[in-house]
Amino acid sequence: MPLIHLFRKCNQRCVFCSYPEEGGAEEGVSLKDWLKEIAAMPPGLVQISGGEPLLAGAGGLCLLLAAVKKLGRRAELQTNALAAAGLRSENISKIVKALNAADGYFNVNFPADTAALDYRITRTRGAFKKRLAGVGRLIKAGARVRLTHIISSLNYKRLPEFAAFAVKKLKGAAWLQFSYIKGIGRAGDGVFLPRYAEVRPYLERALFICEKNGLHCEVDHIPPCFLGGFYRLNVDIVKMKEGRPGPHLEEKERVPACRGCRYLEVCPGPRKDYIAVHKTL
Ligand code: SF4
Repeated sequence: MPLIHLFRKCNQRCVFCSYPEEGGAEEGVSLKDWLKEIAAMPPGLVQISGGEPLLAGAGGLCLLLAAVKKLGRRAELQTNALAAAGLRSENISKIVKALNAADGYFNVNFPADTAALDYRITRTRGAFKKRLAGVGRLIKAGARVRLTHIISSLNYKRLPEFAAFAVKKLKGAAWLQFSYIKGIGRAGDGVFLPRYAEVRPYLERALFICEKNGLHCEVDHIPPCFLGGFYRLNVDIVKMKEGRPGPHLEEKERVPACRGCRYLEVCPGPRKDYIAVHKTL
């Protein structure tokens, strides 16, 4: 899927960041350069990422979104939503309008249900309160908001609490994705990667809470064999059925333990970085 990293600049220091600020500079790339790059990308949704894209300001973002729309593409704006708490209302409205015009949505990284846990993960003081306010403002301004909850060893035991929190405090979010941490970037040493089997009971409870309360969910980077009755929520199943190319085929690989699995046709296997850390499923 076409993905652009606007820059490395960010207002958080998440332990799981796969594109950390200290990895090198991306500054100095102009809007014209991005448009050329997007036009040359394969068709489909354009993911606008960072760093933190909202730090680009409303003017630049609206120009970019208008250009994405003009190219006939849809946009996903990935954000931690902190900046949305401080933006002027007219700027929020402008960004939301431009995003909606590109048939797009915000993808908000929301890692915790408490301020203390949020701080352990994002290493950013006051982030939880700002994020909560920021998401509220985006929803109120009429944006479609997808929440992404990255599962790591720091938060997996609170997945049911996070689900209950999302249902109660993040009303109006369009859907919630539970996404297992990638063992790359700052998480490349593997210390924050819990075993799928440890995550499973907490995740199943969380998915049950969401289902009961009508909050649509999906799961990425945890194979269907660890999702019990919720296996259909795995996002790779549709991609595999449709034979879509993409990162799921490069990042994941079946292992000997997959032999004879009932999901073999619709699952590309576990992440390679998971197997590098844990050796087996
Ligand atoms: S193919 Fe492998 S990883 Fe995928 S569901 Fe089956 S056993 Fe699990």
